Amino acid sequence: MRAQVLLCPTITAYGRLYCAPRRLHRYNSSSSSSQFLNLNLSRFSGALFFHMEQFQSGTGSSGKRGMVENLKRYGVISSKRVAQVMEALDRGLFVPVGSSAYVDTPVPIGYNATISAPHMHATCLQLLEDKLHPGMRALDVGSGTGYLTGCFALMVGAEGRVVGVDHIPELVDMSIKNIEKSVAASFLNKGSLSLHVGDGRKGWQEFAPYDAIHVGAAASEIPQPLLDQLKPGGRMVIPLGTYFQELKVIDKNEDGSIKVHTETSVRYVPLTSRVEQLGGF
Ligand code: SAH
Repeated sequence: MRAQVLLCPTITAYGRLYCAPRRLHRYNSSSSSSQFLNLNLSRFSGALFFHMEQFQSGTGSSGKRGMVENLKRYGVISSKRVAQVMEALDRGLFVPVGSSAYVDTPVPIGYNATISAPHMHATCLQLLEDKLHPGMRALDVGSGTGYLTGCFALMVGAEGRVVGVDHIPELVDMSIKNIEKSVAASFLNKGSLSLHVGDGRKGWQEFAPYDAIHVGAAASEIPQPLLDQLKPGGRMVIPLGTYFQELKVIDKNEDGSIKVHTETSVRYVPLTSRVEQLGGF
């Protein structure tokens, strides 16, 4: 994949609207880098995908706040709780040193994986918000850096339970270190948040059933164990597809039946075996 830098009029900045040329990246499917995976293609290819150049400096509160303000302004975040957790959990602690933490773009984290773009994290938090109230249970499959897993922990609180699963041991180690530096550290220490090495296609039976399941990598079909581990009344958000992918929202009704709707087009890294992932795309 290759990013083309475009000039496109868009709106932004500090509560006032103005038209200014902004740098947009357009997805080009012919290339193979993972740099621009884990994003919403609708936003990415349209005027809503934006760079937040003014907030790139450092990991201070202005960066986090600016990122969240822009996501609110563009209508990605509408919930106060989602805004609060994304501002509380510093994305700067989860991206590799030297990366732009608050720019609305995925960032490579090694092992052919990326931390999702902020708008994608925000979209998934919005979709799952109702299933992330204090005391609820959430599973994050393909937890990568642990950023979204940490957001879940802040939302369900110490009475809830959050499990992150990734099949790359080095990423799980890194995610634990990231969380330890963050405001979500106490949940890790007290045991309401845990991160595990495993094949996320099998879910994590130990703490099932889950009110919320998020899958951070694109599956070719919905893994049955994840459907089984979803609580009646629960919701799963999962990118489905190989080349063309759609973010699916799966609601399990109280009688166990399933309702599925498509949220948007996306581009994620594949939910696959460790060998295939490390062998390249
Ligand atoms: N949501 C995370 C990471 C997204 S990248 C973040 O934003 O930081 C997708 C992640 O899925 C990668 O970390 C990759 O290692 C993981 N993954 C892919 N297939 C998997 C599988 N079968 N089981 C567990 N994790 C998997």
